[in-house]
Parts: sequence; C-alpha cells; structure tokens
Amino acid sequence: MKAKTVKAKITIWFSILFIVLVGIVLILLFLIGKSVLKSNTKEQLQTLVEANALELEFLEDEDEMDLEEGDHYLPYKDGYLEIDDDFCGFLDGMYVSLYNGDTLLYGENPIGAGPGEVVFRQGKLREQMYQKEKYYIYDVSVKGEDLDGLWLRGITGESEGISLLARVIRFMALFLPALAAVAVIGGYLISRKALKPLDDICDQAGSINSGSDLTRRICIKNESAETNRLAENFNQMFDRLLDSFESEKQFTSDASHELRTPVAVILAECEYVLGEEDSEEWREALLVIRRQGTKMSEMIEELLTFTRIERGTIKLETERLNLSDLTEGVCREQTQIWKKDIALHRDFQENLYLNADRGLLERMITNLVANAFQYGKEPGNIWVRLYEEDAHVILSVQDDGIGIREEELEKIWNRFYRTDNARKGGDSTGLGLSMVRQIAKLYDAQIKVFSEIGKGSTFLIIF
Ligand code: ADP
Repeated sequence: MKAKTVKAKITIWFSILFIVLVGIVLILLFLIGKSVLKSNTKEQLQTLVEANALELEFLEDEDEMDLEEGDHYLPYKDGYLEIDDDFCGFLDGMYVSLYNGDTLLYGENPIGAGPGEVVFRQGKLREQMYQKEKYYIYDVSVKGEDLDGLWLRGITGESEGISLLARVIRFMALFLPALAAVAVIGGYLISRKALKPLDDICDQAGSINSGSDLTRRICIKNESAETNRLAENFNQMFDRLLDSFESEKQFTSDASHELRTPVAVILAECEYVLGEEDSEEWREALLVIRRQGTKMSEMIEELLTFTRIERGTIKLETERLNLSDLTEGVCREQTQIWKKDIALHRDFQENLYLNADRGLLERMITNLVANAFQYGKEPGNIWVRLYEEDAHVILSVQDDGIGIREEELEKIWNRFYRTDNARKGGDSTGLGLSMVRQIAKLYDAQIKVFSEIGKGSTFLIIF
C-alpha cells in the first residue's frame, strides 16, 4: 500500500477534527438552545397571562365606557366587562383567551380542546398534545370585584420557539461547514507550503541518486532550521558516500599495484631460472620467489582480515586477557626475530587485564613493536610501557629511530601508505598501521602518535 503524504495526513486529520467539532457544536447548540427556549417560552406565557389578568374590569354603567381609548367592552352580568387596550390576545405565538366558565368570551383557542376537556387549574403550567404537537397551557382565575368565574387561559405551541432555533441551527449548519471547508483548504495550503522544502529535498536527492553524480549537492532556500538541517545531513551523507567511493577506488588501485610488483618479480625469476642450468642460481631464484610469495600471502591475509573487521564478519574469541603477559611475549619474540643492535626496554605494570580477542591484540602490538625495530637506528633503543591511568589502560611503544615527518603523520594510518624511507627497504606492505587503527576502533581505543624526524617516534594506544 502506498504511504500517505504528510500533507494528506494533516489535511485528513484536520478535516475529521473540524467535522466532529462542528457536529458537536451544532448538537450542543440545539440541545442548549432548546432547553433555554423552552424555559423562556414557559416564563413568557406565565407573565403574559398574569399581566393580562390585570387588564380586566367590570363596569356597571354604560357611561363609564371610554370608546375612543380602543378598549373592548363585552356585556357581562348586569353591566360590561372592560378589556383594556393593553390586553394582549396574541403575542409571539402565545394566545391568551378569556373564559366565563366553559364559554369563550374573548380571544382564540389554537387547540381543539376547550375547558370542557382540559379543566382550569389555577397557576399551573401543563402540557397538552394536539395534532402531534406539544402545547403549554397556563390558567389564571381573574380576581376582582364581580369578576368571579372568569378565567384567562394562555396557550402556546412548543414549536413556536423551536422554529426560531431551527432557523438559527439551519444557518449554522450551512455556515459552520463552509467555515470548516475554508479551514481545511487553508490547512492544506499551509501544510503544502510548509512541506515544500521537503519535496524539494526529495526531488533533488532523487535526481542526484538517479544521475549518479555524487558531486552535486542539495540546495534549498533558507526556510526553516529543520529543513536546513535535513539538507545539510543529506549533503554530509553525499560527502561521505563520495569519500568512501573514492577510497574504494583508491584501495582497488593500490592493492592491484602492490600485488603487481611481487608477481612481476616472481615471473621474472621464473623466466630467468628456466634458462639456467646451474643449481645454485635455481636456489637463489627460488628463495626470491618464496620471499615475494610470502609477502603476497601476508598481504592477502591482511586484506582479508581488514575486510572481515570492517564488515563485522570476523570471528572474535573474546577472553579476559592478561595484557602484561601478552605484551611481554610479543617483545621477546620480536627481539629474537630482528636480531638488531637495538635494546628493548620494558616497563610493564603487572597483571593488567582486558577483554579482547588474543589474536587481534597480539597482531596490533606486534605491528607497533616490529615497526619500532624496522625503523629504528642501530645502535638504538625501544621502550615498551604498559600502565593504567585514569581508568584507561595505556600501551606506549617508543623508539629513537628515523622518525616521521610531520606532514606524513596523518597519512601513515592509511592502507598501503609508506614513507619514502620505508619504500627503499622493499619489505614493508604499508598495511600494518592501518590494521592497528582498525583493531583499535573495534575496541573503542584511541590511537596517538608523536614523532620527530631523525629523533624517533612514540605510538600510544589508550584502551
Ligand atoms: P609498513 O611498516 O609495512 O610500511 P605500516 O602501516 O606499519 O606499514 O607503517 C606505515 C608507514 O609509517 C611506514 O612505511 C613507515 O614509513 C612509517 N612508520 C611506521 N612506524 C614507524 C616508526 N616507528 N618510525 C618511523 N616510521 C614509522
């Protein structure tokens, strides 16, 4: 399934949120509005009926009538009933009618049932269904001189108030979704604008990838710290990729170059001895071939170990190693091998332990001590020290040999790198120190070198 874009996710999320919100607001508006209106309607009906009750008066005499005022007069008992012009028979959907017993004297009755069916009850608000609609009824018996037996009945339909609410709701139902639509479109546009630099980065990274030109870099406007960082990280990644491609190329060319020389020597020696009868010449040639063959085999072995460490496929046998004993063994062995007029001085703190693979650590120490012999001057000295400092185990191999030029100090850790002095010797491979660095990296150890040309070098491994 294709993953949704962040834009789509944001837009969908906001749309759903807004629709739910609008729905909740409409429902709440309806429920609250309905109950508020209901209680308002009831209150208004009661007030109207009670106010109207004060607008009635009994007149005994015709002379007391004031026809110009707009009041109504109904014949009643021996006189007249004056209904003041302030009497409201109908107001905002509320009907107030005047009854003498069961007889309607004044006003209208919106529901079919008269007092015969719905009897008067003083000051009591009731509900009555008529033609599927709910009505409120409120009765007041009129007080006053000669007004006994008169009742005022107020009636109003529930839908009167509700219809106003319905109009408001209908308006909101149109307005709120329109507002939601505006918000969603706005949200989409904003998220599109905010995510535009990401799209740009994706497009540019894609085109660098498909064009295989790793020297190109991602270039975006200075829009936000996050996208700048992303572009920067991408560019750094391209830098590293380019570096590793370059060093891969360099490595292949160096390795083939280094292997070509011994192979050429072997082939030349073979050609030479095949044309010779003398067995002494044969012997010498075979010795050369064996030396070159051994060098090639060592080189191939080292390269294989490199690759295995790099890929993490090397089989490590980690154990609790007595580093002091191990270093002592290496020093003894190297002194025997080199047979040079160089004195090896040891200064070891006893029983320093480390969890590591014996073979790899031995190789690392051997490379350092062998270099000290190889690049040492005769007569000369080597100092191998092993001590613990600030919770670190430190191995130091110092010589007073030929030293290394400052500008070469960085390069000696590279694969196949040899200084000019070393090249002259012919036996070195230029792989020893890069192996030391690789093994140190495997054990999170720090490596340091101090050297002065003509005076000597010191190599430090800090575990
Ligand atoms: P190799 O010794 O096989 O040439 P290394 O990787 O061990 O390869 O060393 C790389 C280069 O660093 C050497 O060729 C040499 O020039 C220089 N080097 C290493 N150790 C020393 C040392 N103790 N004194 C002077 N030069 C050194």
